[in-house]
Amino acid sequence: MTIKRNIDIARLTTFGIHAKAAAVVTYSSLEELEQIIADKSLPTPIVHIGEGSNLLFTDDFPGTLLINEGDSVEFIGLDDNEILVTADAGIPMDLLCGFAAEFDFWGIENLSGIPGSVGAAVVQNVGAYGVEFKDVFVEADAIEVATGKHRKFTLDEMNYGYRYSLLKSQEWKGRYFIYRVKFRLSEVPNPKLDYGNLRSSVGESPTLAEIRKAIIAMRDSKLPNPSEYGSAGSFFKNPVVSHSEFERIVAENPELEIPSYPAPDGIKIPAAFLIDKCGLKGHQLGNASVWHKQPLVIVNHTGNATGSEILALERLIVATVEKRFGITLHPEVEHI
Ligand SMILES: Cc1cc2nc3c(=O)[nH]c(=O)nc-3n(C[C@H](O)[C@H](O)[C@H](O)COP(=O)(O)OP(=O)(O)OC[C@H]3O[C@@H](n4cnc5c(N)ncnc54)[C@H](O)[C@@H]3O)c2cc1C
Repeated sequence: MTIKRNIDIARLTTFGIHAKAAAVVTYSSLEELEQIIADKSLPTPIVHIGEGSNLLFTDDFPGTLLINEGDSVEFIGLDDNEILVTADAGIPMDLLCGFAAEFDFWGIENLSGIPGSVGAAVVQNVGAYGVEFKDVFVEADAIEVATGKHRKFTLDEMNYGYRYSLLKSQEWKGRYFIYRVKFRLSEVPNPKLDYGNLRSSVGESPTLAEIRKAIIAMRDSKLPNPSEYGSAGSFFKNPVVSHSEFERIVAENPELEIPSYPAPDGIKIPAAFLIDKCGLKGHQLGNASVWHKQPLVIVNHTGNATGSEILALERLIVATVEKRFGITLHPEVEHI
């Protein structure tokens, strides 16, 4: 376990924004986590983070950031060609995707290249190319911050939705720290190729490794590499509007062919399209900018952006899209 005080956290988030945390604590075993929770001298609040790839610190943080540095991963063969994977929460999701590709275990290949830890994948329900983490999730072992009590979260309880889970809800957020995750893979090939131009780039019966390689290449071609340009990936959620709202937008914008997808509670419109049509692609505000290849991403353009500059650009985008289309965008990135 390590406890460090008054730490610059630029390297703890993919935005790379300089801010200070009162304490940063790392742990690698359950015993250490129990000790940390029992230690009432640590600055509060205590927030468990992974790779900080979905976080925007808008100011210095007066509490403790907690990071799991466990390195245990176990693959167990079950009946019916299934594999049960058990991983410490801090293990990078993409490392697990890489192992799975090497062993030919199917299920998470479409999540290749998504930054972040497997513990956060449970909370965030990460998704890409038609697959979400909920599709393989079995259960997570967690500890309640207030009481130190242990509990498991199973698939049935997690109330998963688009980038949403029970642990993101107002009531449950921050109450439990996940320290171990179980999910299920399969030895039976099951390529999911319907999303975007995946099928055309890999053909009808690709190997798992071919899918992983193609997805990483596609992601690299449109998303900024956090080691060059700090970002937190898609900054906004895609808005879902009612059918009548969608008709209004179409009627008011006859010159546009507005892309849309059916969603359980209405019609989903790509936020990137709306931002692009407002002329904001590539727009720079101070040290922050809208990524020139994918307007859903805000980047720390010069490496010197502050949390307030990113916030100012976020507000400009929200106000401009609202004025032009009457739609309010909401951030996917969590503000701390
Ligand atoms: C370039 C780029 C591309 C991206 N592409 C995608 C994509 O395609 N699809 C997608 O879904 N996301 C994408 N993201 C967003 C991000 O990768 C995911 O949200 C990821 O799950 C965040 O993982 P993390 O470990 O960095 O979590 P953090 O950002 O550190 O934390 C995210 C949330 O999870 C909580 N949390 C983290 N660990 C734990 C734990 N052990 N116990 C309890 N709570 C915890 C945190 O408190 C916080 O609320 C992208 C980000 C970047 C930078």
